[in-house]
Amino acid sequence: MTLYDLFQNFKIFEAKDDADRASLRSTDNVGEINKLRDQIDHLSLVCQATCELLDEIGISKKMMLAKIQEIDLRDGKLDGKYVKQHTCRSCHRPLAARHLMCMYCGVLVDKAELL
Ligand SMILES: [Zn+2]
Repeated sequence: MTLYDLFQNFKIFEAKDDADRASLRSTDNVGEINKLRDQIDHLSLVCQATCELLDEIGISKKMMLAKIQEIDLRDGKLDGKYVKQHTCRSCHRPLAARHLMCMYCGVLVDKAELL
């Protein structure tokens, strides 16, 4: 066996290992996608019930769409989604959900406040 053969065998082993890891990640991703689909199905059910109840008490689809647009614009963008902005309890500047402390004043972020 030549040095080139050894190198090629090593590369083949590496590629198989990468393929195995990618396969495991793919399986994990399918599970996560199925969980998200279940959550979307549940939210659709809740939205349908909410819309039907609101319609029964006289809140029209037009009123709902106006409220959806109003809420959508609260983050400054009409993009069909809304990301709630959180502010520091100490300095009142914006907080990113991923930070453990305020980047302006250093106060620790209570994750319960972000919910
Ligand atoms: Zn702060």
